[in-house]
Amino acid sequence: MKKHIIIVGAGYGSLALANLLARAGHTVEMFERNSMPGGRTGLVSQDGFRFDTGPSWYLMPEVFEQYYKIFDRDVAKELDLIRLTPGYKVFFEGTDPVIIKGDLNEDVHTFEALEPGAGVKLEKYVAKSEKIYDLSVKHFLYTNFQKPTELLHPDILKNSLSMLRYAFSTIDNHVSRYFTDSRIKRLLEYHMVFLGSSPYQAPAIYSLMSVLDYKSGVFYPRKGMYSLIDSIASLGQSLGVQYHYNTDVQSIDSVGDRATGITLSDGSQHKADIVVSGADLHFTETSLLPNEKQSFPESYWERRQPGPSALLISLGVRGSLPQLLHHNLLFVEDWQENFKAIYEDYTIPKSASIYVCNPSKTDASVAPDGHENIFILVPLPAKKTYTASEQEALTARFIGQFADMIGQPDLASRIVTRYIFGPEDFRTVYHSWQAGALGGQSHLLSQSAIFRTQNKSKKLDNLYYVGAGTTPGIGLPMCLMSAQLVYKRIAGTKSGGPVTHIEPLEDVQ
Ligand SMILES: Cc1cc2nc3c(=O)[nH]c(=O)nc-3n(C[C@H](O)[C@H](O)[C@H](O)COP(=O)(O)OP(=O)(O)OC[C@H]3O[C@@H](n4cnc5c(N)ncnc54)[C@H](O)[C@@H]3O)c2cc1C
Repeated sequence: MKKHIIIVGAGYGSLALANLLARAGHTVEMFERNSMPGGRTGLVSQDGFRFDTGPSWYLMPEVFEQYYKIFDRDVAKELDLIRLTPGYKVFFEGTDPVIIKGDLNEDVHTFEALEPGAGVKLEKYVAKSEKIYDLSVKHFLYTNFQKPTELLHPDILKNSLSMLRYAFSTIDNHVSRYFTDSRIKRLLEYHMVFLGSSPYQAPAIYSLMSVLDYKSGVFYPRKGMYSLIDSIASLGQSLGVQYHYNTDVQSIDSVGDRATGITLSDGSQHKADIVVSGADLHFTETSLLPNEKQSFPESYWERRQPGPSALLISLGVRGSLPQLLHHNLLFVEDWQENFKAIYEDYTIPKSASIYVCNPSKTDASVAPDGHENIFILVPLPAKKTYTASEQEALTARFIGQFADMIGQPDLASRIVTRYIFGPEDFRTVYHSWQAGALGGQSHLLSQSAIFRTQNKSKKLDNLYYVGAGTTPGIGLPMCLMSAQLVYKRIAGTKSGGPVTHIEPLEDVQ
C-alpha cells in the first residue's frame, strides 16, 4: 500500500532512498536542517573557486551504474565520468614519490622497483582482493541478513575458512605476509582511512579496496563531485520527492511501538506512516527519541569506536603546482604512530598523513584561470574538542607540511582564498557523533556487516535508518547500498542482492 514517508536529513543515502521509495509510488518528504542537499557531500563557491568539501574519490563505479539502472538511466551519461589515468600520486618523506597508474599490468613494474619480487606478489594480492570483493558484493553488502540461510550459500561455505582468516587478522598483518617494503605497505593500507579505520585494527577483509586502485580504476564526474547530488536530487524531483530545507527536526514522535511523524524546531508537526532517519545514528537515537524509545542508547555508543574527525582545508592558489596530480597522498614515516594517535590514543599525531585533491588538474571550471583548486584532508582524532585557535594552528601546520612534502616553499604566500571546515563544524553542522567526519562508526570487525548498527529501530516498528552510520557503512557507494537495504526492508523483500527493478504499487487504500 502507498505510504507517506518522512526522511530526516538529505545526505546521499537519504536522497538515494527517497528516489527508490518514490519510484514505488510512496509519497516522500525530506526534511534537511541545512540549506542544500548532500550533507557531507558538500560544495562551497568562493571567490571564483568551486570547492567540493566532501568526497573526491568516485569508487566502485558498478554500484552507481546498478543504482541508476533501476531508474532506466545511464550513470556514465548522467555524470559524464572521466577515468583518471594515472590514478594518483603518493609522496613519501625522504624518498621519491610513486605514481599509481590504476592499471595492474603497469603497476606491477612500480611495485617491482620498490621491492624485488613485489610485482608478482601484487598480482596475487589483487587476485585475492578481487575474490573477497566479489564475495562481499554478492553475499554481504546488499543483504539485511534477514534469512539465516543466506549465510549458507555454497559460495560462502566454500570460502568460509579463508573469509574467517581474513575476518580475524588485521589488514596490516595480511599485507605484511606479502611485502616488507614500508612504502608498499602504506600503498596497500591507506584505504582504511576511507573506511574511518586503522590498518592495525580493521579486518583483512577490507583488502578488497585494492581492487579499486589496481583494477576498476578511479573516476571523476566532469562537473565535480557535487554533481552526484545535483543528479540524484533532480532524479528525485522528477519522481515527485518533496524537499524541505532549513528545517531542523527536533524529535521523532511516536505512540506505543509506532513512529507517528516528526516535530521541527519551529514546533510544527508532520505526520507520517513511516519515518527514516539519515542523520547520524547517535544523534537520531539519543537526541531525536526519548529514552524509552532508544534501541541504541548512550551506553551502547560508549562501547563503539567512532571514525576519525578531520580538518578540511580548501585553498585557492595563484599559479600552478605542476608536481601534483588530481589525487595525491602524503604518507609520513611514522605510519603506525600516526594511526595509533588518531584511533587509539585520541591525540593529535606529531606528523600526519594527509590527502590532497587538486581537481583543477582535470576540471578547469573549479578555479579561475591561472589558479589551482586545492583540498587538503587531515584526519584528526574524534572524541576531542578543538578550540578556534587550536584549529588555526593546525591549519597553518598542515599547509606547511604539505608545502614541504611537495617542495613548494612559497605556497602560503600564493593562497588567494581559503575555506576551513574543522571537527567542531562536523558537530554543529551535521550533528556528528564525537565530531566524526565520515558519518559513522569505524569499520572494526565488531562494527561491520551483521555487527554494524542495524538499519531498523528495535523499539518502533516503522522507524528505519539510512546512510553511512548503518549497514553496510561509510562512503558514497555504501550509501547507495544502504538505501537499497532500507528500501528492501520497507518493501518486505528479504532476499540479498541489489534491487534491480521497482514496480509502482497499486493505490489500494
Ligand atoms: C571530507 C570527506 C571526504 C570523503 N571522501 C569520500 C570519498 O572520496 N569517496 C566516498 O565515497 N566517500 C567519501 N566520504 C564519505 C561520504 O561522504 C559519506 O559516507 C556520505 O556522504 C555520508 O552520507 P549520509 O547519507 O550518511 O549522510 P550525511 O552526509 O551525513 O548527511 C546527513 C544529513 O542529515 C542532516 N541532519 C542532521 N541532523 C538533522 C536534523 N535534526 N534535522 C534535519 N536534518 C538533519 C545533516 O545536515 C546532513 O545533511 C567522505 C566524507 C568526508 C566528510
